[in-house]
Amino acid sequence: MKYEAVIGLEIHIQLRTRTKLFCSCPNEYGAEPNTNVCPVCLGLPGALPVLNMEAVRLGLLAALALNAKVYKRSQFYRKNYFYPDLPKGYQITQYVGSLATDGSLTFEHHGVVRTVRIERMNIEEEAAKSYHAEDGTVLLDFNRSGIPLLETVTRPDLRSPSEARHFLELLRRTMRYIGVSSCDMEKGELRADANISVRPVGSEEFGTKVELKNLNSFKAVEEGLTYEYNRQIEVLKNGGKIIQETRLWDEHLRETRSMRVKEEAHDYRYFPEPDLMVLELPDGMLEEAEAALPELPEARRKRFISEYGLRPDIAEVMVQERDIADYFEDLAARIGDSSLAANWISTDVMRVMNEMKTDIHGFPIPIDDLAELLKMLKKGLITHNIARTVFDKMVAGEGTAKEIIEREQLLPLSDESELLGFVEEAISANPEIVEKYRKGKVSVIGVLVGYVMKKTRGKANAKRVKELLEEKLKA
Ligand code: ADP
Ligand code: ZN
Ligand code: MG
Repeated sequence: MKYEAVIGLEIHIQLRTRTKLFCSCPNEYGAEPNTNVCPVCLGLPGALPVLNMEAVRLGLLAALALNAKVYKRSQFYRKNYFYPDLPKGYQITQYVGSLATDGSLTFEHHGVVRTVRIERMNIEEEAAKSYHAEDGTVLLDFNRSGIPLLETVTRPDLRSPSEARHFLELLRRTMRYIGVSSCDMEKGELRADANISVRPVGSEEFGTKVELKNLNSFKAVEEGLTYEYNRQIEVLKNGGKIIQETRLWDEHLRETRSMRVKEEAHDYRYFPEPDLMVLELPDGMLEEAEAALPELPEARRKRFISEYGLRPDIAEVMVQERDIADYFEDLAARIGDSSLAANWISTDVMRVMNEMKTDIHGFPIPIDDLAELLKMLKKGLITHNIARTVFDKMVAGEGTAKEIIEREQLLPLSDESELLGFVEEAISANPEIVEKYRKGKVSVIGVLVGYVMKKTRGKANAKRVKELLEEKLKA
């Protein structure tokens, strides 16, 4: 029997606001523990929360980007439970009356178009962070407490671990495009719990699901789910039953292990947060968010293929970051050649960015200068080899393309008679190669072309050199 996976994700996206959700403490990463705190985010009795409307604005943008239905009125609730990282005894979250529901995200995976439905999107506050010391002491850092999160829950529409990873990557890219979150998983700005069950292919019914926690990277999402998928199939094949439970993915042992078995639905005794009014979106707020929404990565990827004729794999690379996509369109327009722009960005420009550990804003060559270089290449004024040499010198800050080419006399040999001189020299200096060529091993001509290129320091047009060599050798 063949089994398929059924997967749904519960995602927390940290909203990139200046201050926390209900107080004016900074929403910042890496500060000394317990320095960004106040009575509100410490949960002291009697402290009153004030809603940060910037978090609402970002939540709206995210909801619109996921095609969700946004509600003019939504409400905050107290979700009651006690945990050391939540000493006030409840989390302020949304419950009935979500910010948005019924969204979707459509993507292409291995050539198949897939749509994942988003059940709901809720704004809620983060808890504190606990550290478990070796001697058993628990340390609490309240800097994170009260940071705004957007809880985003999908329907069980994903069908494989790699699809789940792809979905999450696109979600991250989308959130980054619209500036809602940096979604840096290492900093906990994007977190996902994954629910997975298996069922025989063709069956409509869902199996019993297991919830996976501790998936701290895209790799962990895919590997944890793959492990769990295989484990569940194994259990079923041996006549066993899947029990509904929460399991932890252990990246080092590369296995999941049971954390707790879910007996009943938790009773959190939700009730409306009495210290906050019903959230009623001010007039124009939704319209402003709609107007602020940029073209989204998936739409842009499709347009790059249809409008510029980019290869699908190159288009994928060009839309990975919004700044890169903008840079690509700008450069393509300046040189009037989109595939030349995409090729240089996806190779040399990205290589330099990686080496220098910078983004496109820190790329050392001004876009004007890069465009000038590529225009010269496009016009055939310089060869590809020379262009790369000049590019490296530009990166090193040695000047503009024109300056470097003039200073180092890198303009190509356009004088045919001069070129012929080198061709003849190549023939007379390599008699054994010439003989091989004449005996039918025509591929050795590359050696002669290489000889000329070396002698001219790459300034000759290799294609023309080859033609001239062929003419001479056939004569
Ligand atoms: P719960 O009652 O445990 O909170 P929900 O129905 O609210 O369960 O779903 C929680 C998450 O689990 C959602 O992301 C949903 O898509 C996913 N899910 C629900 N049922 C299944 C299933 N049978 N297999 C896999 N995932 C599921
Ligand atoms: Zn505070
Ligand atoms: Mg639920």
